Amino acid sequence: MPTESAVKSSLLPVDEAMKRILEGLPQKPPEAVSVLDAHGRVLAEPLRSRMTLPSQALSAMDGYAVRAIDCTKVPTNLVRVGEAAAGHPWTGKLDAGQAVRIFTGGVVPDGADAIILQEDVDATAEADGADITIREAAQAGKYIRPAGLDANKGDLLLDAGMTLSARGISLALATGNVSVICKPRPTIGVLSTGDELVRPGETPGPGQIISSNAFYLQAFIRACGGKAVDLGIARDKPGALRDAVEATNEPLDLIVTTGGASVGVHDHVVDDLGQKGSHLNFWKIAMRPGKPLIFGVLGDVPLLGLPGNPVSSAVCTLVFLQPAIAHLAGTEFTPEIFSARLGVALSENDQRQDYLRARFETSDDALPLIIPAQKQDSSMISVFANSTCLLIRPPFDPARQPGDIVTAMTIPPLL
Ligand code: AMP
Ligand code: MG
Repeated sequence: MPTESAVKSSLLPVDEAMKRILEGLPQKPPEAVSVLDAHGRVLAEPLRSRMTLPSQALSAMDGYAVRAIDCTKVPTNLVRVGEAAAGHPWTGKLDAGQAVRIFTGGVVPDGADAIILQEDVDATAEADGADITIREAAQAGKYIRPAGLDANKGDLLLDAGMTLSARGISLALATGNVSVICKPRPTIGVLSTGDELVRPGETPGPGQIISSNAFYLQAFIRACGGKAVDLGIARDKPGALRDAVEATNEPLDLIVTTGGASVGVHDHVVDDLGQKGSHLNFWKIAMRPGKPLIFGVLGDVPLLGLPGNPVSSAVCTLVFLQPAIAHLAGTEFTPEIFSARLGVALSENDQRQDYLRARFETSDDALPLIIPAQKQDSSMISVFANSTCLLIRPPFDPARQPGDIVTAMTIPPLL
């Protein structure tokens, strides 16, 4: 382990920072979750059917349940002997020359093996004992959903690792599952730091700004399947971070802070992690935007300290927090990295890995054209919100010309 002063003097490469973050995040075991609360959760175990679905043969149409053998030559007359509607089975046994009025979802009676559509039947009355005339020949099995059509007891329905969609919830419930074994959902506390911050909805006074970072982070965490806990705003004074975290009753798997990440006299996150009972792992990385990125442990909870500038904070979130959430949830996240053809010239890069805000544009080329935004100031949320990707330049990347092939990661539309 390097000494803290050595850590402070060097810029940690992005890959090394990522590795240390993931190593420092404990993973919790899978848990049983009520299916009703499991939307968006990742299955830790395969989902199996607990019943046969449908449990009995059902009619797929409104019509008449018949014996196909009685309806080979048409027209022919049968006698209606009963009715089977959904939820109201007819419990008799169909004999030769008989038919049962049936509706979609009704149980196909014993003895019947075909359904005649009601459009193909003339009935003297909608009552038992009525004569009916069948105008279409029956085919055995036609319009009948046999027992087990959808699933049989014990069938594998969804593989482990799948995220439960609304469709998955419907399937789980229909097949008799009341709970599912899921990967853990990380609970992540979000804390803004800064004397200048007011909450959304408040009017900023002179020198104040609206804390947008915290709500970006909360939306981001939820979109990645985590649970976000709002820890509010800590003011710029020593110990305020710990006080804010101690004020919550929620057990946290990770704390994410924004701002106060450098070592100016008004920045306290690094110093607070240097206090007894806490630990600073690193606080400066070779990345632009996002040099002051902190990782450590506050008490016994891992802490990711993001820079305050909204774009630095958001780019670090995309690069580090998304894999961190996946790791806490017992999964893995790999960003979508693409090759693209550069549309402009770029000068040589320095020692920091650069993430330029950019847009993909379609072109006749097999590769998309990538155009970095002209203004790359890390405070400019307007540029970031209109970007579709980040052009990644490794440390010391040489000068680039229009037409060169570069790499980029997409920014998911909802993030
Ligand atoms: P800091 O890292 O605290 O020096 O903050 C760097 C810049 O980011 C300053 O201009 C802050 O006002 C701004 N900033 C810090 N926190 C937030 C936040 N929660 N929302 C928006 N901007 C912020
Ligand atoms: Mg600050």
